[in-house]
Amino acid sequence: MPGGGPLDSGGSLDEYSRAPRVCGVSSARPKEAAHPGPLFRTPDSALKFPFNLRRALRGRVSPTTTMSTPKPTSTPKPTPSDPDSGESEASSAGDERHPLAMETLVALCASRGFIFPSSEVYGGINGFWDYGPLGVELKNNLKAAWWQRMVRQRTDVVGIDSAIVSHPRVWEASGHVEHFSDPMVDCRTCKRRFRADQLQGERCPEAPKKRALSDCDLTEARDFNLMLQTQIGASVEAQVTAYLRPETCQPIFTNFKRVRESARQKVPFGIAQIGKAFRNEITPRNFTFRSREFEQAEMEFFCHPSQREEWFEAWREERMRFHADIGFDTAHLRFRPHAPDELAHYANAAEDVDFLFPFGWQEIEGIHDRGDWDLSRHSEYSGKDLIVTDEETKERYTPMVIETSMGVDRTCLALLVDAYREEEIEGGETRKVMRLSPGIAPIKAAVLPLSKKLGEPARALHADLGRSLNAFYDDAGNIGRRYRRQDEVGTPFCLTYDFDSADDGKVTVRERDSMVQTRVPIEGVVAYVRDRVEAAI
Ligand code: ATP
Repeated sequence: MPGGGPLDSGGSLDEYSRAPRVCGVSSARPKEAAHPGPLFRTPDSALKFPFNLRRALRGRVSPTTTMSTPKPTSTPKPTPSDPDSGESEASSAGDERHPLAMETLVALCASRGFIFPSSEVYGGINGFWDYGPLGVELKNNLKAAWWQRMVRQRTDVVGIDSAIVSHPRVWEASGHVEHFSDPMVDCRTCKRRFRADQLQGERCPEAPKKRALSDCDLTEARDFNLMLQTQIGASVEAQVTAYLRPETCQPIFTNFKRVRESARQKVPFGIAQIGKAFRNEITPRNFTFRSREFEQAEMEFFCHPSQREEWFEAWREERMRFHADIGFDTAHLRFRPHAPDELAHYANAAEDVDFLFPFGWQEIEGIHDRGDWDLSRHSEYSGKDLIVTDEETKERYTPMVIETSMGVDRTCLALLVDAYREEEIEGGETRKVMRLSPGIAPIKAAVLPLSKKLGEPARALHADLGRSLNAFYDDAGNIGRRYRRQDEVGTPFCLTYDFDSADDGKVTVRERDSMVQTRVPIEGVVAYVRDRVEAAI
């Protein structure tokens, strides 16, 4: 692919479902993170991690609890489950699959401007995706719903927006410099790189379709650190290695004292943040599911040690409620508790919220009891006291942390999978429709004048709507085709301005899901749409 090779291409649409290539950068073991120099000394008391931090969080085979009996949706026209439609992520994914073919969704996302490969004109860059005009609205709506629910509607959670790059010691204290790695193997024959813990479900790219990996000549597994590095400093000599954060939560811990004091919060309370995270994934795959740049919406809740179980349970329930409220079919959601051998050594409990993707059950959010590990480590590495004092009992303690960590991109992808339908309608026609919740849908209302001659009053209505929500204006093509275009991108309401509108002061509101049409007074139609949208979350 011209211009794409050296940058590990493979993000292009026709390639998304194929085996990712050998990382074009190097097949050699990556260098250990360079020590940042005397400015940043490692304390002698640095604790040893008993095992790989990353693997501790990764899904392996373990028992599952299902919110309700999971069954594939019957509404989408079942497309044959094509093994090429996505590679299995891990052995825990099982055989169950959402019936939608990923190719269908990926093609629609590109053609309608939801999501497409980054640097597409150069052949794409594997693991990086851009959001188009509809995608950015969808993502912003999801983030706004999360923020509303997690921060604004509560008195015990406050928000922050921290820098992407932190002091390198942050990532030493957190254990990421030493332990944030996946086991990697290379094949000497096909030159492809694999994650050693995900070999099951992989295919050799040179082998005929569906053949196993048995002929690959694999190297020993080596640890591959997933943090992306950058150099900070004006001159080459004075540069230090820093990291693009692999998760958004660490700055929450390092800002704990400042935020607690400035926001006058008392334990129990939480700090929330939405932002970019970066991981140099060995095998980015399944569209945006496993990317190298993605967004997380995380909340760290600090509580007394005696309350950790109680808060874990409360947050677990609240997070599942949130997913149901943003429109997921709850039959496609489940909890997956981590088995004891998956838990990080400091963790008391961890559960994933899984969604049934076309490539199996996979995590969209993690809920973790992280104990006092993070605050203790940052206290130790920074020398700053992160202990709190109970005003009544005068007890001094390090708070325990319950974390909720949602992947914004994965949740967007899951919402799109869940919403997409192909439905037969009157006259034997098939319509494609995204049944997104009105609160999450990128466009809330489309204004469709029946004729271009009605443009002036129709544009005035669009301007009115645009003051409080995202509206769209379309006067091209016949009205049926215009409805179909809006169905396909999930617009819940179409407002048709016709030749009677000037006389009766009404427009026709056509609802996406029922296709029912109602005459609504123009002066009340903005409130009508806004109320329906707000009621949806
Ligand atoms: P996985 O095991 O799938 O790699 P993880 O357990 O490492 O995920 P966490 O570190 O708990 O993930 O991150 C919290 C959330 O961030 C995940 O539930 C997921 O939604 C999102 N996330 C993690 N890695 C990626 C990625 N490479 N691409 C997109 N989203 C991601």
